[in-house]
Amino acid sequence: MRSIVDFTQEDIKLPRKEILRSQGIPDEAELSENFEKTYREAIDLFRELVEPKGIMAGITISRFEEVFRGEELNEQENPVEEIYRKSNYLALFAVTLGPVLSEKVTELFDYGNYAIGYMLDSVSSYAADILTNTIAKLLQSKLAGTEPMPSTWLVLSYCPGYCGWHISGQKKLFEALHPEEIGITLNESCLMSPMKSVSGVLIGGPGEIHEFVNSYPFCNTCTTRTCIKRMQDLKQGQSHIHGG
Ligand code: SF4
Repeated sequence: MRSIVDFTQEDIKLPRKEILRSQGIPDEAELSENFEKTYREAIDLFRELVEPKGIMAGITISRFEEVFRGEELNEQENPVEEIYRKSNYLALFAVTLGPVLSEKVTELFDYGNYAIGYMLDSVSSYAADILTNTIAKLLQSKLAGTEPMPSTWLVLSYCPGYCGWHISGQKKLFEALHPEEIGITLNESCLMSPMKSVSGVLIGGPGEIHEFVNSYPFCNTCTTRTCIKRMQDLKQGQSHIHGG
């Protein structure tokens, strides 16, 4: 199965509280009029410039092994490998907010408009995670109730550059998926263009396969610890946090 997804504006909900929390701003914080103005401008710009797109393609475990091995730079032990080997369905994916939005963020910084540039960058990063969750949910609903996935199983995303999957894994991922079809390219340093793009693998199977103990050597230097929130959500029956 290979499909291109044309997301709509409605697919990208932008809850103010969560966006501000992602910037470290507590719910009860009193914000200046200037801040409110910058926030409103950033949301308006985002809505005007976003061009969300996605692509996904099913892949067998044996073929994914080769993709995951990449340049053989992954950490020897890592959660992604443990999880995909227990999975029932795998799909490579990439999503993007489009080139115009990313160019606008760069332009704002280039011209010294740091406040609005930072706010638009922050809103866009949040939205890229939302898009990743949306494509995972889309695959989950496509598979739900059909072989091989009962409706109670979960699809979560995992990305190169996180949790022991080396960033150079992007090369094999791109060779297998061809996200160029929706305008995403990869440079020599394995960075994607447009900037606000995410790629990785969607792993489907019983919820338990996504649970693990985060005591890998590289976890000592992890600043995000996103796996903790993700596992908490899993236990509460949610599955909507961007992985890796
Ligand atoms: S602590 Fe960080 S590096 Fe370790 S598994 Fe969790 S998210 Fe990944």
